[in-house]
Amino acid sequence: MSSTFFRQIDPPQRMLMGPGPINAHPRVLRAMSADMLGQFDPEMTEYMNETMALYRQIFMTRNQWTFLVDGTARAGIEAALVSLVEPGDKILLVRAGRFGLLLSEIAERIGAEICALDLPWGQVATLEQIEDALKTHKPEVFACIHGDTSTTMAQPLEGVGELCRKYNVLSYTDVTATLGGMAINTDVWGIDVVSGGLQKCMGGPPGSAPITVSDRAAEHIMARRHVEAGIRAEGTANGNRARILSNYFDLAMVMDYWSEKRLNHHTEATTMLYGAREAARIVLEEGLDARFARHAQASACLIAGLRAMNLRIFGDDAHRMTNVTGVWIPDGVDGEAIRTRMRDDFGIEIGTAFGPLAGRIWRIGTMGYNAVKHKVLLTLGALEACLAAQGHTLPRGAAVDAALAEWP
Ligand SMILES: *Cc1c(COP(=O)(O)O)cnc(C)c1O
Repeated sequence: MSSTFFRQIDPPQRMLMGPGPINAHPRVLRAMSADMLGQFDPEMTEYMNETMALYRQIFMTRNQWTFLVDGTARAGIEAALVSLVEPGDKILLVRAGRFGLLLSEIAERIGAEICALDLPWGQVATLEQIEDALKTHKPEVFACIHGDTSTTMAQPLEGVGELCRKYNVLSYTDVTATLGGMAINTDVWGIDVVSGGLQKCMGGPPGSAPITVSDRAAEHIMARRHVEAGIRAEGTANGNRARILSNYFDLAMVMDYWSEKRLNHHTEATTMLYGAREAARIVLEEGLDARFARHAQASACLIAGLRAMNLRIFGDDAHRMTNVTGVWIPDGVDGEAIRTRMRDDFGIEIGTAFGPLAGRIWRIGTMGYNAVKHKVLLTLGALEACLAAQGHTLPRGAAVDAALAEWP
């Protein structure tokens, strides 16, 4: 029998200007090609400790428990929820986009009672709405998304942690789309558990979920610890607290692994740790404020160019994320045909949309390694050419000129 071994992996060069994944920084990819270490090698455990210290800075927190969940961003979300929420608990969720619905779906599987603050896609919750819902539902846990790429809106979080503490509620936020691109003020916000991913503004590949856990949330999670036969002698579940429903996503066990005890759980994904560590080093080398400003500049430049093409931007300016922009597909234009042409003729990927916005908006990312002037200009020029080629009338040359005026 002849063997089948397919082609060597040699992907075409693409500029990924969608809502993620984006092109990883080459330094991250180089770090990921380094050799393996044993998981208890002092060099490896030192890298783990350094990664914790790096992500404390990225999450702007003093939380001791700041580490990586191995898996994509969704693994961080699931680990947070399954470790915080017990079956039968009430969880209050903001559902204003695809990822709010994901929180709901995960919480449902855990057997939580869902109390939702449902908003039309593109809106954010006010502090008053959140407080009213906390008072009405008296949940154990509150969860929301910071930047929901499905709507391109950023939920304001100032005061949310404080409110949750006032009502004795644990809080969780998914910052996958904004980590490394917008300020994640974990300690100022007072959110208990915050998790992200690498493939958006962190400039890495998907596959690792940085997470940070406050002391009070860690205490809650550790109280749900249990004995794993043959491995753990200590950590009997504390009285009436339910055992965490997942083994892989049991943050009590994962924290024991990241602690000085190094109690084995899974094997830390060595290559992903190298990548996450290098991505964080690059972010901090640039400086958080400079990086946030670069993202804001790139999206302002993109928006100026899109408006000069007479395209309408989705959502209100006040709550827009500064790293992904929704743009209405003009009447009579086949959005998918434009995306295909962008990819085939220019090697540029822009994003489609989900749910009520499917087929109605494109989503264009200016994230991490791609939030740079020349990539924004190239994307605008290509989009203009593709729209014109499809017979759509628009002012030629105006987009790039307007973008250049915005980012001289
Ligand atoms: C992109 C994104 C994710 C992605 O999760 P993966 O598991 O890495 O695909 C999660 N949450 C938000 C808000 C996102 O924008």
